[in-house]
Amino acid sequence: MASKKVIAVFGATGAQGGSVARALLDAKHFAVRALTRDVTKPSALALKDLGAEVMKCDLDNKVSLVTALKGVYGAFLVTNFWEHLSQEKEVRQGKLVADLSKHLGLKHVVFSGLENVKKLTGCQLAVPHFDGKGEVEEYFWSIGVPMTSVRVGAYYENFSNWWKPVKASDGDYYTLELPMGDVPIDSISVADAGVVISNIFNSPEEFIGKAVGLSAEALTMQQYADILSKSLGKDIRDAKMTPEAYEKLNFRGAKELADMCRFFQKKPDRDIKLTHQLYPKIRSFQQFVSENLEAFKDI
Ligand code: NAP
Repeated sequence: MASKKVIAVFGATGAQGGSVARALLDAKHFAVRALTRDVTKPSALALKDLGAEVMKCDLDNKVSLVTALKGVYGAFLVTNFWEHLSQEKEVRQGKLVADLSKHLGLKHVVFSGLENVKKLTGCQLAVPHFDGKGEVEEYFWSIGVPMTSVRVGAYYENFSNWWKPVKASDGDYYTLELPMGDVPIDSISVADAGVVISNIFNSPEEFIGKAVGLSAEALTMQQYADILSKSLGKDIRDAKMTPEAYEKLNFRGAKELADMCRFFQKKPDRDIKLTHQLYPKIRSFQQFVSENLEAFKDI
C-alpha cells in the first residue's frame, strides 16, 4: 500500500493546529507531522499517542523549518500574534514558511489568515493581528504557493476566557463588553474548525488560491448573552458599549479590538453555508455552551 501523504501542522499543541491535527488523524487520509518547540509537552505527547509524528520546529529557526517541511505534501500554518504582539514578527514567520513552501514544492498549504484591515480601509482602521496575516496571505499567493487561506471566525471559546462575561458593578448581573452594536459577529468552535480544514485538504482543486471565511453561525452580542444566560442560569446582558468607549478601557490592545469590531461591523465575508457543507455536524453556540458548562463555571 502506498504510504500516506504527509501534512505538517504548525501550532499542533495549540487550539487551531491541535484541532486540525486531530481531525486529520481521525480522517486517516493524510499522515500528520505535528510541529512544536517542545516535543515533551503533554499536548505533543497526546498527538503522538494518536499516531502523529511529533517534530521539534521553531518558526524563528529556518534550519528547523527546512527539516520540518522537507518531503511533506502540505502544511497547515497558524502564527500566534498574541504570544509576542508583534506584527513584524508574525509577518516574518509567515513569509519564511511561504518561501520555504515554494522552494520545497509543497502542493497545498492552508494558512490561517485574516484580512489586511489597514490596507482595506485606507488606514482608517488598524488591527495588527489581522493586518500581518493579510500581508502574509498576499505574499503566499504573489510567489505562487498553492495556498488556501482560512479566515477563522471568532472562537466560541473566547466567551469563556478573553470575552468572558464581566460582573456588573451596580447589580447582580454580568455583561458582554465587545462593542458590536446590533451587528452579528461570526463564530465557530475552534475545536470544530479542524474538521472543516481537514476537508479543505481533501479538495485542493476547489480551494487552492481562495480565501474561505469559516463561521458556524453569526449572532448579535445580545443573542450570545441570551444563550449564556439560559444555559448558565445567570443574568448576562450585552453591555451595549460603543467602540469609542471600549477603546478607552485600560488594557493594551483595547484600541486594536475596538477597530476589529468596527471592521466586523462592516460584515467581512464569512461563509456559513460552505462551513456547514464542509462539516454538516458543526456545533451551534448553544450546543457548544451546553457541552462545555465546566469551562464557564467561574462566571
Ligand atoms: P494557541 O492555542 O495559543 O496555540 C499557539 C500555538 O502556536 C502553539 O501550538 C505553539 O506551539 C505555536 N507557536 C507559537 N510560536 C511558535 C514558534 N515560534 N514556532 C513554532 N510554533 C509556535 O493559539 P491558537 O488559538 O491556536 O492560534 C492563535 C492565532 O489564532 C492568533 O494569531 C490569532 O490571531 C488567531 N485567531 C484567533 C481567533 C480567536 O477568536 N481567538 C480567531 C481567528 C484567528 P509550541 O508552544 O508548542 O511551540
